[in-house]
Amino acid sequence: MNSLPEKLASIDLAAIVVAEGIELRRSRQRYLGRCPFHEDKTPSFTVKENRFKCFGCNASGDAIDFIQQLRGLSFRDACLYLGITLPGRPATKAECKQVEIAWQRRKHRAELVERFRQWEARYSSELGKRIRRAYRWITKYVKTPEDLNGSTGDMLQEIYNHLPFWEERLQTLACGTDEQKFDLYKEVNNVGQIQTDGRTRRSGK
Ligand SMILES: [Zn+2]
Repeated sequence: MNSLPEKLASIDLAAIVVAEGIELRRSRQRYLGRCPFHEDKTPSFTVKENRFKCFGCNASGDAIDFIQQLRGLSFRDACLYLGITLPGRPATKAECKQVEIAWQRRKHRAELVERFRQWEARYSSELGKRIRRAYRWITKYVKTPEDLNGSTGDMLQEIYNHLPFWEERLQTLACGTDEQKFDLYKEVNNVGQIQTDGRTRRSGK
């Protein structure tokens, strides 16, 4: 692994793109996502065999091109950022440190994205279950308005009141933009309910 082409070939471009916070989905022999270089409404950014190409804005290239364009770095800095050492003058300690920091940031960001995606899937499924259960109970126990009186009634009333919130959230997770979903993620996280809101009744907000 000495020449630049060989080093580039050893880099997983799809992983780098994901680490930069861009969501990719596998589609046949390639990865598909929304292009970071133009306002991309439908995914037109593809990654295949360590090269990217956008069918919307025609951006294309390898991992170095991608990092250069995305981060506005020089060729040399993009190489350092990717951990590729160039022939000639060896990188200084300070440069290596910079690269290390950049790598740590990328890793951290990739972990955050991964955690967010896992939460998204888990919370969608939980909300779906909760909504189905709520409808089941309401259909089963509420035949007349009087059924909403008494202690069972209070519980049903609470579930009934929470239903629109749950449905709105599920709608956001199903059809919202990543920004809207992330807002919800932060909102739910802030009240500390990610782990605990499974079957507890205080989880309506
Ligand atoms: Zn594009």
